[in-house]
Amino acid sequence: MPIKFGPAGLGGVNEAISNLEMYHKLGLKACEIAFTYGAYIKKKEDAIKIGRAAKRLGIKLSIHAPYWINLNSDDREKVRKSKERILRCCEVGTWLGAHRIVFHPGYYGKKSKEETYENIKKQIWELKEEIKDKKYTPKLAPETTGKVNVFGSIDEIASLVKDTGCGFCIDFAHILARYKKYKFKEIFEKFKNHKQLHIHFSGIVYSDKGEKHHKETEREEWKKLLKNLSKISKNKEVIIINESPNPVGDSVIGLEFFQSN
Ligand SMILES: [Zn+2]
Repeated sequence: MPIKFGPAGLGGVNEAISNLEMYHKLGLKACEIAFTYGAYIKKKEDAIKIGRAAKRLGIKLSIHAPYWINLNSDDREKVRKSKERILRCCEVGTWLGAHRIVFHPGYYGKKSKEETYENIKKQIWELKEEIKDKKYTPKLAPETTGKVNVFGSIDEIASLVKDTGCGFCIDFAHILARYKKYKFKEIFEKFKNHKQLHIHFSGIVYSDKGEKHHKETEREEWKKLLKNLSKISKNKEVIIINESPNPVGDSVIGLEFFQSN
């Protein structure tokens, strides 16, 4: 079973292709483009060129949508803008040939968890309609989040997948911060019917309330993840994006562990 390792971050438009070449030389086969502060690849021709290079180099692209997304806001305008940002990622992602648009769906705010879930589910349905109409090709991938007061528990993401047919991203650093353990067994059981697992992994600093910030990935943590993945990943495509402060170096360490076992 091949696992595709790669960093969060592609760099600016002018260095994107040389970075992809460097990742390729290092044996990396995935890259998540950080549109976290906006979809910075603006021109269609640039996106197409970068997408072609990634394909030629065997690197699977995904996109992390902007942080400023809340599909559960009381403010309709904020919801509209959130959807616009996700759809813009889908558009550029189509040009790039990216397979997933990863995003943090929203906040509970003052609403109950149930109401939040229903709101987010409805918005994802509407996004999917629009994606279909516009013939965008990436799949939406809501992510498990690292703070207990932010929508994105394991059950919430699993239910969205079941109820809307969207994709997903399992961030194990967030899982650790949220639940104080990785919950490999429970998660792999919940997502066992999916042929593709899009995973985020890195070290993390956290408190009672959850995530504080990412840190470099400890070797022991890599071992835990890869050992648990080896039990379930047969016949699956597994993509592991590293979001540590040293995402390329950490991805190479993960790859080396994987190859040496
Ligand atoms: Zn993540």
